[in-house]
Amino acid sequence: MEILSAMSITGIAASVAHCMGVSPPAAAESPLKPVLEKAERVFGNLKAERVLIYNPDAVALWLYPKYTELFSEIMLRTQLALPLRSVMPTVTPVCFASMYTGAMPEVHGIRTYVKPVLKTDTLFDALLRAGKKPAIVSTEGDSISKIFLEREMDYYILKTPEECNRKAIELMQEDRYDLITVYNGDYDAQMHRTGPESREALDTLKKNAEAFASLSDAAEKYWSGRRYLTVFAPDHGCHEIDGGLGSHGLEMEEDMNVIHFFGFHG
Ligand SMILES: [Zn+2]
Repeated sequence: MEILSAMSITGIAASVAHCMGVSPPAAAESPLKPVLEKAERVFGNLKAERVLIYNPDAVALWLYPKYTELFSEIMLRTQLALPLRSVMPTVTPVCFASMYTGAMPEVHGIRTYVKPVLKTDTLFDALLRAGKKPAIVSTEGDSISKIFLEREMDYYILKTPEECNRKAIELMQEDRYDLITVYNGDYDAQMHRTGPESREALDTLKKNAEAFASLSDAAEKYWSGRRYLTVFAPDHGCHEIDGGLGSHGLEMEEDMNVIHFFGFHG
């Protein structure tokens, strides 16, 4: 029996906007109820002053029950885990465009593996309209480094995931931004080469969990005294194919279902 998650990654944009008290992007679908309910319990009528969105690539939902221990550093730093459904085709630019516009691919217009600058309203645009300062920290050539360009915001486009994570921590320390998006594409790259469950890929997944843990710990240190939200938010899943390789892009459970985690700090 194939089960697709009931809730969609298109709910992320409005959920984060709501937590920060800003109007959602123009075409965004409804926010995710569990996120709003938890936000209300932790923040009350107040809003999150800071948000960290950590976007690892291709972390499938099925990895979570099968390799739960690899997720423990994430679980220990968050209070809510949500299985979400990605969008078709399950490739990086299409899915991140849906996550940040809150809209389906036929609405935002990126429907294949292409990386044009999105003209559709995004969470970043919604924040800028509200006078907030977002920043993107991502590796060069990757979707997140390209499709959200041409906004009046800061982009830190670096060579490696490690550099991105160090830069994001530095930005938190300087406390210059209201929302920081950090992209790590190393699990995706590794699982394509050696398969999603290869030792190398699982080591990279562990690295992603540790990166989120380090970023969360930095938030606790540098954003202390503020209300803030941390989100672990992959774009799509993955599956093994012949030859010990990994792939994604299909409308199958393994590619469509992802797991997101949320940390609320009041
Ligand atoms: Zn991807």
